[in-house]
Amino acid sequence: MCNLSLVTEICLTYLGSVISESEKGIVVATRGRLFDVRAEDGSHVKCEVRQKVKHVAKGVTPVAVGDDVIFTRATDGRGAIDKVMERRTAFLRPMVGSETKMQVLAANLDILAAVVSIKSPKLKTGLIDRFLIAADMGNLIPLIVVNKTDLQHPPDLQEIMAAYRELDYGVVDVSAETGQGLDTLRERLSGHRTLFAGHSGVGKSTILNMLIPSLDLKTRRVSSSSNKGKHTTTHIEMFELPDGGFVVDSPGLKVMGLWEVDREILPHYYRDFEPYYVDCRFQPCSHVHEPNCAVKAAVEEGKIARFRYDNYISIAASI
Ligand code: GDP
Ligand code: ZN
Repeated sequence: MCNLSLVTEICLTYLGSVISESEKGIVVATRGRLFDVRAEDGSHVKCEVRQKVKHVAKGVTPVAVGDDVIFTRATDGRGAIDKVMERRTAFLRPMVGSETKMQVLAANLDILAAVVSIKSPKLKTGLIDRFLIAADMGNLIPLIVVNKTDLQHPPDLQEIMAAYRELDYGVVDVSAETGQGLDTLRERLSGHRTLFAGHSGVGKSTILNMLIPSLDLKTRRVSSSSNKGKHTTTHIEMFELPDGGFVVDSPGLKVMGLWEVDREILPHYYRDFEPYYVDCRFQPCSHVHEPNCAVKAAVEEGKIARFRYDNYISIAASI
């Protein structure tokens, strides 16, 4: 949104037999070859992508959800994307069937909301840590959304969340069932483009329905669908929040892994380790097997939460 306001030139583009003024828009959904573009006046236009745009992209996904674009309308209500503005952030996933090529799942997001539930499904801090690392890697602001707070709290919940809060991670407790905490969540998301990530069943669709009442039908259709295979990873949609901003929720985003992170870099994503690793005897230190490791000592002394260290060990082992 911000970038586009800088674009002042208005060009005339030839589209089929119609000449129309170029407009700014945001890609809010992809459906095969067609893209749903939200124009600045709030209208939605189904757009194709011009050949020259595909040409410029050279192997990188030419158009993704979240892209700021310049497009032109045709008389039949359709449109064409003429230009994709430079991306501020890109949320990537390895291309299906390729080990080296990456696919842009969503562009220009600013918040990664790791949605978890306190139970059903059980809270998994390993997953939270993975999302926090992914957010850091992708330059997104991490936000932990803890849902289903109306259910009975597991005994260690307060301690776990206190540990994240102490590390300056944003944590919002909500119950999509009772509505508790949703105002705080609304405030946090307002004006931002947020990616909702989290295991199936934690309540992402329910929260979205509460945030965007008009969405009801859509998500119910998705969640009640018996044919899970229908949720192809190519269908990604960005929903507009009533207070401004957008939320992306896609089944495809759940498969995100830490394919990119180097084992040597991994400890640097653990901000709680930072004050200690200068004192490790070996430099660099993996904090796994080395003797005289200051990070391990800090865990023993209770200065670093043990669950964080345990997650670190299992993530390190998985890459
Ligand atoms: P998603 O897969 O993350 O989109 O999860 P859904 O939104 O489909 O929710 C999964 C189940 O959890 C549904 O049966 C919801 O009714 C239920 N659920 C969602 N939010 C809450 C909540 O705050 N409290 C309780 N008790 N149940 C919830
Ligand atoms: Zn160490």
